[in-house]
Amino acid sequence: MPEFLAAHALLPEGWRRDVRIASDEAGLITDVTPGAPRGGPAHFLRGHVIPGVGNLHSHAFQRAMAGGAERRSPAGRDSFWSWRETMYRFALTISPEDAQAIGAMVYAECLTRGFTHVAEFHYLHHAPDGSPYVDRSEMAQRLFAAAEAAGIGITMLPSLYRHGGIFGAPPHEGQRRFLNDLDGFQEIVNRVRATAGRQRNAAWGVAPHSLRAVTPAMLEAMAEFDAPIHIHAAEQEKEVQECLHATGLRPVEWLLRNCPLDRRWVLIHATHMSEAETRELAATGAVAGLCPSTEASLGDGIFPLPAYLAAGGILGLGTDSHVGTDPAAEIRQLETSQRLALELRSVATDTERPHPGRGLLERALEGGAQACGVAMGAIAVGKRCDLVELDDEHPTLVGREGDGLLDAWAFGPADRMSRSVAVGGVVVVESGRHIREGTIREGFATVMRKLGA
Ligand code: ZN
Repeated sequence: MPEFLAAHALLPEGWRRDVRIASDEAGLITDVTPGAPRGGPAHFLRGHVIPGVGNLHSHAFQRAMAGGAERRSPAGRDSFWSWRETMYRFALTISPEDAQAIGAMVYAECLTRGFTHVAEFHYLHHAPDGSPYVDRSEMAQRLFAAAEAAGIGITMLPSLYRHGGIFGAPPHEGQRRFLNDLDGFQEIVNRVRATAGRQRNAAWGVAPHSLRAVTPAMLEAMAEFDAPIHIHAAEQEKEVQECLHATGLRPVEWLLRNCPLDRRWVLIHATHMSEAETRELAATGAVAGLCPSTEASLGDGIFPLPAYLAAGGILGLGTDSHVGTDPAAEIRQLETSQRLALELRSVATDTERPHPGRGLLERALEGGAQACGVAMGAIAVGKRCDLVELDDEHPTLVGREGDGLLDAWAFGPADRMSRSVAVGGVVVVESGRHIREGTIREGFATVMRKLGA
């Protein structure tokens, strides 16, 4: 593995200069030495180097509809629920080959911007008529292949989806590609686990889709897995009302009372929580999986960030429907939504972390690694050697250093602010471009032209 020498690197103890970073054949960091001499064979990174971020929530296929579902519907009053109808229709058009090409595109985009691992919350399992493929995990395998082609790490989370409403309502016709019983689901998990064991930088977990899609007995079965367990929860107020009506409890409250929430669990969105739910969720050690640009796009609502941070809650960032693919943009949306709601600035800060850019980046690194179930998120011995070199000649970053540079990265005008990116010690982005950008974009363009035709 090549050695790196970073002119500036963000280590767990803070910014250090001239940091030598070595890794082994498995891509894990074996040595971190600040103050190392320049020169020699090490790959020199002259910018500021931060750890790669784990993207904790992706539905890769939705990249192909990003920006394409904005038009007002004839009835008006558009919402998450009308968007979801569009998404269901769109999901029926995606072939395995399409899924792979779209996945490679979005994973390469994420990599170029500093996400070096993605947790793929995968529910598009079956053929368009609802019948399983010969290999029941075909669609998941396509996304593993996409991740391999892009060079990103992946935690594949096959999603269990059985019902169409809280606890047992029959599924919607548009959900037919998503549905499995527990046996069918277990078969997909077995195959996914085998591929994750073979593929470099790959891992697995499970994803009971939501309280709308599984029964309490199914959730109990999910809690048996010794792996990350991701679930959508409390994204929309309507979902909260339905859950209250069916169970007498709010969704997060129901999960707190009925599931052994711990560090394996990731509650995606967790937007609509009471003060008590916010405090109690923070105390479990589970991750709140925030997807700020998608939540803004879908009109979901605003996460109770100050209360959650005050209670010591762990959070991470995901790009979900991929209207954005950039960790800096997610940090910006998370912080600026709070500013709009509270009429304040620098909300996600305290006296120890006065810079929202670095503060939220460090929280996303920690929560992202935990949610993906991977040793990453820090430039430290034993962690995966995922490095993102920011381009400090970019007009937004030039002349800035350290925490001030990270604030500019998150809150200034931006595109392509990474110069080089390595995953497990392997360089996959050079001079701001993904090493296979041409081929990947061509494959994606072919799919988009076909879908648009
Ligand atoms: Zn989602």
